[in-house]
Amino acid sequence: MPEGHTLFALARDLHEAFAGTRPTVTSPQGRFADGAAQVSGRELLAATSRGKHLFLEFSQERWVHVHLGLIGTFTLDAGPWTAEAPVVGQVRMRLAHGEHVADLRGPTQCAVVTPDEVAAVLSRLGPDPLRPDADPERAWHRLHRSGRTVAELLMDQAVVAGVGNVYRCEVLFRHRLSPFTPGRELRAASWRLLWEDLVRLMPLGVATGRIVTTEEQVRQVEAALGRGEPPRLAERTSAVYRRQGQPCPRCGSRVRSQVVAGRTLYWCGRCQRRR
Ligand SMILES: [Zn+2]
Repeated sequence: MPEGHTLFALARDLHEAFAGTRPTVTSPQGRFADGAAQVSGRELLAATSRGKHLFLEFSQERWVHVHLGLIGTFTLDAGPWTAEAPVVGQVRMRLAHGEHVADLRGPTQCAVVTPDEVAAVLSRLGPDPLRPDADPERAWHRLHRSGRTVAELLMDQAVVAGVGNVYRCEVLFRHRLSPFTPGRELRAASWRLLWEDLVRLMPLGVATGRIVTTEEQVRQVEAALGRGEPPRLAERTSAVYRRQGQPCPRCGSRVRSQVVAGRTLYWCGRCQRRR
């Protein structure tokens, strides 16, 4: 499933391509035909993301709310584009204007919604580490009184928006935290460090299109971006994700795996014992 950094980059790219234009909106597949007719030809004011949710704001208070789910994709192609461009696959929504065409396929959500409905979605989401106005105290409020484990809580979009399975595994590894620590046993200082790390790591995902979490790679990417150069990434940019049975890069113990909150958790049983 795409994590928050993917949606953030997608919103940025859609905004650059379409904001201030009046795109033609269609539903080649037909399932979004009514919604497309409601927004087609209106000015697209902004494309934004919150966590794994994408919002397209059109004039006169019409919004399109998109969630890609597990298999959805939203591809943006630079032109030249013409109305006769072929449709490939099941395109739920197509945005087209000038040189740009963007095709949405396989989302779990694609609907025209009101401002109140947008507000309702946002109110159900925790803070998004990619947003400068995000308040980590809102997440702490939910975390510190919960008996659920931190591995479950990090996957709960009502706690933190945008973190998915890879960032969950990796950030817990980076802080040597046991994934099975109950939220109520997590110290406020530990939460602050986890949050600050997500705020540091997720923009690197936006910048590179990859989840970069090994400290060596993190430093290299930060240095390259600081110099205004494209970062060169190693093949391996994460430490424990999908490494079950392999040696832990920190202590050499075997990386373990177990399904937690519906997704496979990867962690080191030896060096992630902190609570
Ligand atoms: Zn280890």
